[in-house]
Amino acid sequence: SAKAQGRNTVRIFAPTMQSPYCAQLALEADMARGMQHGEFVLHFQPQHEGGQVVGAELLVRWKHPVKGLLMPGAFIEQAEQGNMIVALGSWVLECACAQLAAWHAHPATAGLSLSVNVSARQFRQADFLAGVADVLRRTGADPARLTIELTESLLIDDVDDTIAKMKALKSMGIGCALDDFGVCYSSLTYLKNLPFAEMKIDQTVIQDLRDPKSAAIVRAIIVLGETLGLKVVAEGVETEDQRAFLSTHGCTRQQGYLHGRPVPLQEFASSLPRHG
Ligand code: C2E
Ligand code: MG
Ligand code: MG
Ligand code: MG
Repeated sequence: SAKAQGRNTVRIFAPTMQSPYCAQLALEADMARGMQHGEFVLHFQPQHEGGQVVGAELLVRWKHPVKGLLMPGAFIEQAEQGNMIVALGSWVLECACAQLAAWHAHPATAGLSLSVNVSARQFRQADFLAGVADVLRRTGADPARLTIELTESLLIDDVDDTIAKMKALKSMGIGCALDDFGVCYSSLTYLKNLPFAEMKIDQTVIQDLRDPKSAAIVRAIIVLGETLGLKVVAEGVETEDQRAFLSTHGCTRQQGYLHGRPVPLQEFASSLPRHG
Protein backbone atom coordinates (compact mmCIF):
# COMPACT_ATOMS: atom_id res chain seq x y z
CA SER A 1 0.00 0.00 0.00
CA ALA A 2 0.98 3.65 -0.25
CA LYS A 3 1.50 3.74 3.50
CA ALA A 4 3.90 0.81 3.38
CA GLN A 5 5.86 2.64 0.71
CA GLY A 6 6.54 5.50 3.11
CA ARG A 7 5.27 8.96 3.91
CA ASN A 8 6.65 10.76 0.92
CA THR A 9 5.27 8.42 -1.67
CA VAL A 10 2.76 10.06 -3.95
CA ARG A 11 0.04 7.61 -4.69
CA ILE A 12 -1.47 7.94 -8.08
CA PHE A 13 -5.00 6.83 -8.68
CA ALA A 14 -5.85 5.42 -12.03
CA PRO A 15 -9.28 6.58 -13.21
CA THR A 16 -10.58 3.04 -12.97
CA MET A 17 -9.76 2.74 -9.27
CA GLN A 18 -12.94 2.74 -7.24
CA SER A 19 -11.92 3.46 -3.69
CA PRO A 20 -14.80 4.44 -1.40
CA TYR A 21 -13.10 7.80 -1.02
CA CYS A 22 -13.09 8.38 -4.79
CA ALA A 23 -16.70 7.29 -5.07
CA GLN A 24 -17.59 9.74 -2.29
CA LEU A 25 -15.80 12.63 -3.99
CA ALA A 26 -17.34 11.76 -7.34
CA LEU A 27 -20.84 11.68 -5.85
CA GLU A 28 -20.31 15.01 -4.08
CA ALA A 29 -19.08 16.66 -7.25
CA ASP A 30 -21.98 15.17 -9.20
CA MET A 31 -24.48 16.35 -6.58
CA ALA A 32 -23.02 19.85 -6.59
CA ARG A 33 -23.36 19.91 -10.38
CA GLY A 34 -26.86 18.49 -10.14
CA MET A 35 -27.93 21.13 -7.64
CA GLN A 36 -26.58 23.89 -9.88
CA HIS A 37 -28.59 22.49 -12.76
CA GLY A 38 -31.80 22.09 -10.77
CA GLU A 39 -31.83 18.30 -11.06
CA PHE A 40 -33.18 17.74 -7.56
CA VAL A 41 -36.93 17.74 -7.20
CA LEU A 42 -39.26 17.30 -4.27
CA HIS A 43 -42.21 14.99 -4.25
CA PHE A 44 -45.13 15.53 -1.91
CA GLN A 45 -46.62 12.50 -0.19
CA PRO A 46 -50.02 13.34 1.27
CA GLN A 47 -50.83 12.84 4.92
CA HIS A 48 -54.47 12.05 5.53
CA GLU A 49 -56.53 12.70 8.62
CA GLY A 50 -59.97 11.16 8.61
CA GLY A 51 -60.10 11.03 4.83
CA GLN A 52 -58.85 14.56 4.23
CA VAL A 53 -55.44 15.75 3.10
CA VAL A 54 -53.91 17.72 5.97
CA GLY A 55 -50.39 18.04 4.65
CA ALA A 56 -47.48 16.23 3.06
CA GLU A 57 -44.00 14.91 3.62
CA LEU A 58 -41.36 16.22 1.26
CA LEU A 59 -39.28 13.46 -0.32
CA VAL A 60 -36.31 14.29 -2.52
CA ARG A 61 -35.63 12.74 -5.95
CA TRP A 62 -32.75 13.34 -8.31
CA LYS A 63 -33.47 13.63 -12.03
CA HIS A 64 -30.03 12.46 -13.05
CA PRO A 65 -29.13 13.20 -16.69
CA VAL A 66 -27.41 9.81 -17.13
CA LYS A 67 -28.83 7.54 -14.43
CA GLY A 68 -32.46 8.62 -14.69
CA LEU A 69 -34.73 9.30 -11.73
CA LEU A 70 -32.88 8.41 -8.55
CA MET A 71 -34.67 7.68 -5.28
CA PRO A 72 -33.15 8.80 -1.95
CA GLY A 73 -31.90 5.27 -1.31
CA ALA A 74 -29.46 5.71 -4.19
CA PHE A 75 -27.69 8.80 -2.85
CA ILE A 76 -28.83 10.07 0.58
CA GLU A 77 -26.75 7.73 2.69
CA GLN A 78 -23.59 8.57 0.78
CA ALA A 79 -24.45 12.26 0.75
CA GLU A 80 -24.73 12.06 4.53
CA GLN A 81 -21.03 11.19 4.72
CA GLY A 82 -20.11 14.60 3.34
CA ASN A 83 -21.30 18.16 3.24
CA MET A 84 -23.61 17.89 0.25
CA ILE A 85 -26.36 16.71 2.58
CA VAL A 86 -26.14 20.09 4.31
CA ALA A 87 -26.65 21.99 1.07
CA LEU A 88 -29.42 19.62 -0.03
CA GLY A 89 -31.12 19.77 3.35
CA SER A 90 -31.17 23.53 3.51
CA TRP A 91 -32.60 23.64 -0.02
CA VAL A 92 -35.40 21.27 1.07
CA LEU A 93 -36.13 23.46 4.10
CA GLU A 94 -36.18 26.53 1.88
CA CYS A 95 -38.65 24.89 -0.52
CA ALA A 96 -40.88 23.76 2.34
CA CYS A 97 -41.06 27.21 3.89
CA ALA A 98 -41.63 28.96 0.56
CA GLN A 99 -44.45 26.51 -0.21
CA LEU A 100 -46.06 26.98 3.22
CA ALA A 101 -45.97 30.75 2.77
CA ALA A 102 -47.56 30.45 -0.69
CA TRP A 103 -50.27 28.12 0.64
CA HIS A 104 -50.90 30.41 3.59
CA ALA A 105 -52.20 33.11 1.28
CA HIS A 106 -55.13 30.95 0.12
CA PRO A 107 -57.91 29.79 2.45
CA ALA A 108 -58.16 26.40 0.70
CA THR A 109 -54.51 25.57 1.41
CA ALA A 110 -53.72 27.66 4.50
CA GLY A 111 -54.34 24.70 6.80
CA LEU A 112 -51.80 22.38 5.16
CA SER A 113 -48.62 21.41 6.94
CA LEU A 114 -45.31 20.06 5.61
CA SER A 115 -42.77 17.65 7.04
CA VAL A 116 -39.10 17.59 6.06
CA ASN A 117 -36.43 15.02 6.82
CA VAL A 118 -33.31 16.38 8.46
CA SER A 119 -30.06 14.42 8.46
CA ALA A 120 -27.63 14.16 11.34
CA ARG A 121 -24.88 16.19 9.73
CA GLN A 122 -27.31 18.95 8.83
CA PHE A 123 -28.80 18.99 12.34
CA ARG A 124 -25.33 19.07 13.94
CA GLN A 125 -24.18 22.15 12.04
CA ALA A 126 -23.35 24.97 14.42
CA ASP A 127 -25.52 27.32 12.34
CA PHE A 128 -28.48 24.95 11.88
CA LEU A 129 -30.82 26.91 14.16
CA ALA A 130 -29.74 30.24 12.72
CA GLY A 131 -30.47 28.88 9.25
CA VAL A 132 -33.95 27.73 10.27
CA ALA A 133 -34.72 31.08 11.90
CA ASP A 134 -33.45 32.87 8.81
CA VAL A 135 -35.57 30.88 6.35
CA LEU A 136 -38.68 31.40 8.50
CA ARG A 137 -38.03 35.13 8.60
CA ARG A 138 -37.36 35.43 4.88
CA THR A 139 -40.31 33.34 3.73
CA GLY A 140 -42.80 34.29 6.43
CA ALA A 141 -43.80 30.61 6.78
CA ASP A 142 -45.87 29.66 9.82
CA PRO A 143 -43.53 27.49 11.97
CA ALA A 144 -46.55 25.68 13.42
CA ARG A 145 -47.12 24.18 9.96
CA LEU A 146 -43.58 22.84 9.69
CA THR A 147 -42.47 19.50 11.12
CA ILE A 148 -38.87 18.39 11.23
CA GLU A 149 -38.46 14.60 11.05
CA LEU A 150 -35.52 13.11 12.91
CA THR A 151 -34.45 9.49 12.98
CA GLU A 152 -33.12 7.63 15.93
CA SER A 153 -29.66 7.23 14.43
CA LEU A 154 -29.37 11.00 14.58
CA LEU A 155 -30.24 11.17 18.25
CA ILE A 156 -27.69 8.80 19.69
CA ASP A 157 -24.40 10.57 19.24
CA ASP A 158 -24.88 13.87 21.11
CA VAL A 159 -27.96 13.96 23.31
CA ASP A 160 -27.15 17.35 24.88
CA ASP A 161 -26.88 19.03 21.50
CA THR A 162 -30.08 17.28 20.39
CA ILE A 163 -32.05 18.42 23.44
CA ALA A 164 -30.80 21.99 23.12
CA LYS A 165 -31.67 22.20 19.43
CA MET A 166 -35.06 20.50 19.79
CA LYS A 167 -35.98 22.89 22.60
CA ALA A 168 -34.92 25.83 20.47
CA LEU A 169 -37.00 24.56 17.54
CA LYS A 170 -39.96 24.12 19.87
CA SER A 171 -39.60 27.68 21.13
CA MET A 172 -39.62 28.83 17.49
CA GLY A 173 -42.93 26.96 17.11
CA ILE A 174 -41.60 24.02 15.09
CA GLY A 175 -42.53 20.46 16.06
CA CYS A 176 -40.17 17.54 15.69
CA ALA A 177 -41.26 14.04 14.71
CA LEU A 178 -39.50 10.82 15.62
CA ASP A 179 -39.36 9.10 12.22
CA ASP A 180 -39.42 5.32 11.75
CA PHE A 181 -40.61 4.58 15.29
CA GLY A 182 -40.84 0.93 16.25
CA VAL A 183 -37.69 -0.25 14.52
CA CYS A 184 -35.62 -0.02 17.66
CA TYR A 185 -36.69 -0.26 21.29
CA SER A 186 -34.33 2.41 22.55
CA SER A 187 -36.71 4.87 20.86
CA LEU A 188 -38.71 4.73 24.08
CA THR A 189 -35.90 6.49 25.92
CA TYR A 190 -35.87 9.26 23.33
CA LEU A 191 -39.60 9.77 23.62
CA LYS A 192 -39.15 10.19 27.36
CA ASN A 193 -36.19 12.54 27.26
CA LEU A 194 -36.63 14.61 24.12
CA PRO A 195 -39.35 17.16 23.35
CA PHE A 196 -41.00 15.42 20.41
CA ALA A 197 -44.38 16.58 19.11
CA GLU A 198 -45.00 13.60 16.86
CA MET A 199 -44.06 9.98 16.28
CA LYS A 200 -44.24 8.22 12.95
CA ILE A 201 -44.83 4.50 13.18
CA ASP A 202 -42.43 2.79 10.80
CA GLN A 203 -43.84 1.20 7.66
CA THR A 204 -42.28 -2.18 8.43
CA VAL A 205 -44.40 -2.36 11.58
CA ILE A 206 -47.56 -1.30 9.71
CA GLN A 207 -46.99 -3.78 6.92
CA ASP A 208 -46.74 -6.60 9.42
CA LEU A 209 -50.18 -5.84 10.94
CA ARG A 210 -51.67 -9.21 9.92
CA ASP A 211 -49.48 -10.77 12.56
CA PRO A 212 -51.47 -10.58 15.83
CA LYS A 213 -48.35 -9.72 17.79
CA SER A 214 -47.54 -6.85 15.46
CA ALA A 215 -51.11 -5.66 15.75
CA ALA A 216 -50.79 -5.69 19.54
CA ILE A 217 -47.55 -3.71 19.31
CA VAL A 218 -49.12 -1.11 17.05
CA ARG A 219 -52.08 -0.71 19.42
CA ALA A 220 -49.66 -0.23 22.29
CA ILE A 221 -47.61 2.30 20.32
CA ILE A 222 -50.74 4.32 19.54
CA VAL A 223 -51.78 4.36 23.20
CA LEU A 224 -48.24 5.26 24.22
CA GLY A 225 -48.14 8.17 21.78
CA GLU A 226 -51.54 9.45 22.88
CA THR A 227 -50.57 9.17 26.54
CA LEU A 228 -47.40 11.15 25.93
CA GLY A 229 -49.44 13.83 24.12
CA LEU A 230 -47.86 13.12 20.76
CA LYS A 231 -49.38 13.27 17.32
CA VAL A 232 -49.20 9.70 16.02
CA VAL A 233 -48.74 9.21 12.27
CA ALA A 234 -48.74 5.80 10.59
CA GLU A 235 -46.36 5.42 7.66
CA GLY A 236 -46.61 2.97 4.79
CA VAL A 237 -50.38 2.40 4.90
CA GLU A 238 -51.04 0.34 1.80
CA THR A 239 -54.28 -1.54 2.37
CA GLU A 240 -57.83 -0.84 3.43
CA ASP A 241 -57.40 -3.36 6.26
CA GLN A 242 -54.44 -1.43 7.62
CA ARG A 243 -56.31 1.88 7.32
CA ALA A 244 -59.35 0.50 9.12
CA PHE A 245 -57.33 -1.14 11.89
CA LEU A 246 -55.35 2.04 12.56
CA SER A 247 -58.41 4.27 12.48
CA THR A 248 -60.34 1.94 14.79
CA HIS A 249 -57.50 2.10 17.28
CA GLY A 250 -57.22 5.87 17.19
CA CYS A 251 -54.48 6.49 14.66
CA THR A 252 -56.32 8.65 12.15
CA ARG A 253 -53.34 10.49 10.73
CA GLN A 254 -51.91 8.30 8.01
CA GLN A 255 -49.44 8.32 5.15
CA GLY A 256 -48.97 5.62 2.56
CA TYR A 257 -49.65 4.43 -0.97
CA LEU A 258 -53.32 3.79 -0.11
CA HIS A 259 -53.82 7.51 0.49
CA GLY A 260 -51.34 8.68 -2.11
CA ARG A 261 -47.86 8.15 -3.49
CA PRO A 262 -45.21 10.86 -3.40
CA VAL A 263 -45.92 13.09 -6.42
CA PRO A 264 -44.67 16.39 -7.86
CA LEU A 265 -46.19 19.58 -6.47
CA GLN A 266 -48.58 20.16 -9.39
CA GLU A 267 -50.03 16.69 -9.03
CA PHE A 268 -50.34 17.05 -5.27
CA ALA A 269 -51.98 20.46 -5.62
CA SER A 270 -54.48 19.22 -8.19
CA SER A 271 -55.51 16.41 -5.85
CA LEU A 272 -56.60 18.92 -3.22
CA PRO A 273 -60.27 19.78 -2.98
CA ARG A 274 -60.96 23.25 -4.30
CA HIS A 275 -62.94 25.63 -2.16
CA GLY A 276 -64.59 28.77 -3.50
P1 C2E B 1 -38.85 8.30 5.33
O1 C2E B 1 -38.63 9.69 5.82
O2 C2E B 1 -39.21 7.29 6.36
O3 C2E B 1 -39.93 8.41 4.18
C1 C2E B 1 -40.89 7.43 3.93
C2 C2E B 1 -40.48 6.53 2.79
O4 C2E B 1 -41.47 5.51 2.65
C3 C2E B 1 -40.42 7.23 1.42
O5 C2E B 1 -39.42 6.58 0.66
C4 C2E B 1 -41.80 6.93 0.85
O6 C2E B 1 -41.85 7.01 -0.55
C5 C2E B 1 -41.99 5.52 1.34
N1 C2E B 1 -43.42 5.15 1.42
C6 C2E B 1 -44.46 5.96 1.69
N2 C2E B 1 -45.62 5.28 1.71
C7 C2E B 1 -45.31 4.00 1.45
C8 C2E B 1 -46.09 2.80 1.33
O7 C2E B 1 -47.30 2.78 1.47
N3 C2E B 1 -45.42 1.65 1.06
C9 C2E B 1 -44.06 1.63 0.90
N4 C2E B 1 -43.49 0.46 0.64
N5 C2E B 1 -43.29 2.74 1.00
C10 C2E B 1 -43.91 3.91 1.26
P2 C2E B 1 -38.37 7.41 -0.19
O8 C2E B 1 -39.01 8.59 -0.85
O9 C2E B 1 -37.64 6.43 -1.06
O10 C2E B 1 -37.38 7.97 0.91
C11 C2E B 1 -36.59 7.10 1.67
C12 C2E B 1 -35.92 7.82 2.80
O11 C2E B 1 -34.97 8.78 2.30
C13 C2E B 1 -36.87 8.62 3.68
O12 C2E B 1 -37.50 7.77 4.59
C14 C2E B 1 -35.90 9.59 4.34
O13 C2E B 1 -35.25 8.98 5.43
C15 C2E B 1 -34.88 9.82 3.23
N6 C2E B 1 -35.15 11.12 2.58
C16 C2E B 1 -36.05 11.42 1.63
N7 C2E B 1 -36.01 12.73 1.31
C17 C2E B 1 -35.06 13.27 2.11
C18 C2E B 1 -34.54 14.62 2.29
O14 C2E B 1 -34.99 15.59 1.67
N8 C2E B 1 -33.54 14.78 3.21
C19 C2E B 1 -33.06 13.72 3.94
N9 C2E B 1 -32.08 13.99 4.84
N10 C2E B 1 -33.53 12.48 3.81
C20 C2E B 1 -34.52 12.25 2.92
MG1 MG C 1 -39.56 10.90 7.00
MG1 MG D 1 -40.20 7.08 8.02
MG1 MG E 1 -36.89 6.03 6.72
